[in-house]
Amino acid sequence: MTKNLDRSRGDGPARVASNDDTQRLMAAGQRLAAEVSRLFTSGPDIADRHYWLETMVNHIPDYIYAKDLDGRFLIANQATVTENGFREAHEIVGKTDFDIHTPENARHFAEAERRVIETGEPMFGIEELNAVSKEERWLMTSKVPLRNKQGATIGIVGVSRDITDRKKAERLLLGQARLLEMIAKSTPLVDFFNELILMIEAHLPGILGSILLLSADGRHLLTGAAPGLDKGYCQAIHGIEIGPKVGSCGTAAWRGEPVFVADILSDPLWEDFVDFVRPFGYRSCWSTPIRSYQGKVLGTFALYSHEVGVPSAEQNELISMAAHLAGIAIERRQSEERIQFMAHHDALTGLPNRVLFDERVASALREARSAGQWLALAFLDLDNFKLINDTLGHHAGDELLRLVAGRMLACVRKTDMIVRVGGDEFIILLTGLPPDSSIVTSRFEDIRTAIGAPLVLSGRSLQVSCSMGVVCYPDHGQTATELLANADAAMYRAKEVGRNNLQLFDVEMARKARERLLRHEELRDAVARGEFLLHYQPQMNLKTDRIFAAESLLRWQHPERGLISPAEIIPLAEETGLIVPIGDWVLNEACRQNKAWQEAGLPPIVVSVNVSARQFRESNWVSRVSQALAVSGLEARYLELELTESLIMQDVGAAVATMHELQALGVHLAIDDFGTGYSSLSALKSFPVRRLKIDRSFVQDIPGDDDDKAITGAIISLAQKLQIEVIAEGVETQAQVDFLRASGCHDVQGYFVSRPVTPAAFAALLA
Ligand code: C2E
Ligand code: MG
Ligand code: MG
Repeated sequence: MTKNLDRSRGDGPARVASNDDTQRLMAAGQRLAAEVSRLFTSGPDIADRHYWLETMVNHIPDYIYAKDLDGRFLIANQATVTENGFREAHEIVGKTDFDIHTPENARHFAEAERRVIETGEPMFGIEELNAVSKEERWLMTSKVPLRNKQGATIGIVGVSRDITDRKKAERLLLGQARLLEMIAKSTPLVDFFNELILMIEAHLPGILGSILLLSADGRHLLTGAAPGLDKGYCQAIHGIEIGPKVGSCGTAAWRGEPVFVADILSDPLWEDFVDFVRPFGYRSCWSTPIRSYQGKVLGTFALYSHEVGVPSAEQNELISMAAHLAGIAIERRQSEERIQFMAHHDALTGLPNRVLFDERVASALREARSAGQWLALAFLDLDNFKLINDTLGHHAGDELLRLVAGRMLACVRKTDMIVRVGGDEFIILLTGLPPDSSIVTSRFEDIRTAIGAPLVLSGRSLQVSCSMGVVCYPDHGQTATELLANADAAMYRAKEVGRNNLQLFDVEMARKARERLLRHEELRDAVARGEFLLHYQPQMNLKTDRIFAAESLLRWQHPERGLISPAEIIPLAEETGLIVPIGDWVLNEACRQNKAWQEAGLPPIVVSVNVSARQFRESNWVSRVSQALAVSGLEARYLELELTESLIMQDVGAAVATMHELQALGVHLAIDDFGTGYSSLSALKSFPVRRLKIDRSFVQDIPGDDDDKAITGAIISLAQKLQIEVIAEGVETQAQVDFLRASGCHDVQGYFVSRPVTPAAFAALLA
C-alpha cells in the first residue's frame, strides 16, 4: 500500500504518480470533511471531540503513533496499524519495533527515539528506510517527546509520511543526470547502456532491460547491452535480421514503432521463436525503437518480464525515456566517430591524413627497430595533375585522385599506410620490410606501375604517371622528420630528372636539399636587406621607331655571386612564398620609377610588370595594385600587368573576374609567353587583355623554321581578328624583324632593340 502523499510533479520522464492513491486520498478527505461538518452542526461536547480527534487521526494517511520510554506502542492510528501488518489498534499496542521490523531497522528507530527522549529535543523531517514488506519503503519522520502533565518525558510521539514515490522519482532523476554526464564524458557505449538498464531495472523490480543496435546496413540487430537477460538468449538473437514478424524488437525496428507483446507464447509476432524462448521463461516483451534526432531508427530498447501483461503508464514512460537517452548516446557517439574520422582522414579519398600519419609513424618506427626490420617511406606526386585539373575540370581531377588512391591501396598490406598530404601528394609507408633496398624499390615500382595503367576519365582514356622519392629506415634517417625531409629531397630529384620515375635517397640529394634550404634562407635575407633591383627592356614600334613601353625584369644583387637572373630567383621565390613580398616590391618600384621618368620630363611610356600565379591569387591583389598606383601617383593607363596563360587557366572564372577588376582600375593586361601554355582559343575571346606577347621560343628560329613561322603568323592574325595588340618577344635579328613586319606585327621586344638595362641606361635610351 502506497500512501503517496508526496508525489513528484511535472511532465519529465521521472514523473511517477498513482491515480489509485490520489483517489483514495480524496475519498478520505471527503469523509473527514463530512464528519467535521456533522460535528459542528450538532454542537460539540467532550465525547464528540474525542470521537472527532480519533476519526481525524485515523483518516490521516500518515503514520501517527506514540511510544513509551521502552519503545512500546501506546497508541497508533489506523495507517500505522495497517502498514505494520495488523488489523486492529490493540494488536500493535505493547509491541516494540523489534517485534515488527528487522533487527537492523528496529535498532535504527530505537536509536533515534532514545536520542529524543534523552535530549528532550524533537527531531523533524528525517528520512528513514523501512523494509516491512518485500518492497523498500521510505519514510519522512518527525519525533517529539511525549510529556505528562508535570512535563516529564514519558515517551515519544511520531509522525511519518511515506515518501517512497518521491524517493524513487528522485533516484530516477539522479540516474538520468548521471547518464547524461556519462554521455558528456563519452563513456563507452556499452557501459552507458548497462548503467541505463540497471537504473530502469532498479526502478521496476522483476523487469529486465535490453538494448539492441541496428547494424550499419540497417538490416540486423546487434547486442548492445542486456545485463539481466540470459547470456545464451542474447547470443542467439545477436545479428538477427529485422522483419515484419521478428519478435518484439525485430518488428519494432522494422516498423519503426513500439511493439508491446503481452504474451510471447501466444503472439503471432513471436510465432517463429516460441520454442526457442520458452525455456528462458520470458512472457512479455515491450520494445520501442531508439531513434536519432532526425527520426532514423538506431536500435531498440526493450523490457522483458516473466509475467504476461502490457506496460503500465509508468513503465511506458520509462521505456520512452530510456529509448530517448539511448538515442542521444548513440547519436553522440556516431558524431564523435565522424568527427574523429574527419580529423584523421582526407574527405575526398578517405585515406588517412597527415595528422593520423604523424600519430602512427612513431610507433611504426619503434616496431621496425625492435623487430630489426626496415621501414620505407615514399613521397609521391602525380605528374601533370594540374594539367588534368585545368583541362578536364575539378570533378575529373577529384575522380582521378580517388582512382589513384584505390590503385595504391590495392598494392599495399593492411599494416602499410597511404596518406594524402595535399593536392596530388601522397606519403606511402611500408612496414615489415627485409633490409634490402632492391626489394623496397620493387615494391614502390609496383605501385608506380599500378598508377600508370590506362584509365578512363570524363570519357577520355589517359595515363597518369607519378614521381616518387623513397627513403628507408634506418639507413636514411632515424626520426620521422628526418625521413620525411630526405624523402622530399629524393622526390625533388625525381621531378628534376624529368618526372615519371623513382629516386632512392642518397647523400648527394641531402647535400642539394641543404643547399636549397640555404638558398631559401638567403632569399629571405635578400628581401629584408633590399638586394633586389629592376632592369628595364624597351618595347618598340617598328613603324614609328619609338619606345612605347618597358618591361621591368627582376635582378638580385647577390653580395658574393653578383647579379642573379629571375630564372633562378622566381622558382625559389615561388617555392617559399616569398614571391608575394618580392612581387609587391617589383610592382611598387616599377610604378615609382615610371612616374619618376615622367616627372623628369621623359616621354611617358607604359611600364609592364610580370605577375606570378601565387601573387595573382592573393585575395587583396587588386587593392594592392591600386595602392601601388596611389602611392606612386602613376596613372593606371601607364601600367601593364603580364599574366601567363597557365596562371589564367588555373581557374578561368576567378581569373577573368580579377582581370575585369583590374581593367576597371584602368590598368592594361597582357598575356606573356603566348603560345607556350594551354589557353583555349574560345576562352581567349572573353579575356579583357590588350596585348599578346609571342613567346621567344617561336621567334628565335625565324626565319629558318617553317613551323615557327607558321605559328607566329597564326598568332599575329588571331590577335588581329580578336582586335588584340601583339608584340614579339626575344627579337634579336633583322631577319626576324623583317618577317614580323611582313606578317603584320610591328611591336617588338628583344636584344635587337636593347637588352634589359639599368634605369639610368633606359632613361638615356628614352631620351
Ligand atoms: P619574360 O617575362 O618572358 O621576360 C622576357 C625574358 O626574355 C627576360 O629574361 C629577358 O631578358 C629575355 N629576353 C628579352 N629579349 C631577349 C632576346 O632577344 N634574346 C634572349 N635570349 N632573351 C631575351 P629574364 O630577365 O631573365 O626574365 C626571365 C623571366 O623571369 C621573365 O620572362 C619572367 O617570366 C620572369 N620574371 C622576370 N622578372 C619578374 C618579376 O618581377 N616577377 C615575376 N613574377 N616574374 C619575373
Ligand atoms: Mg614578361
Ligand atoms: Mg615572355
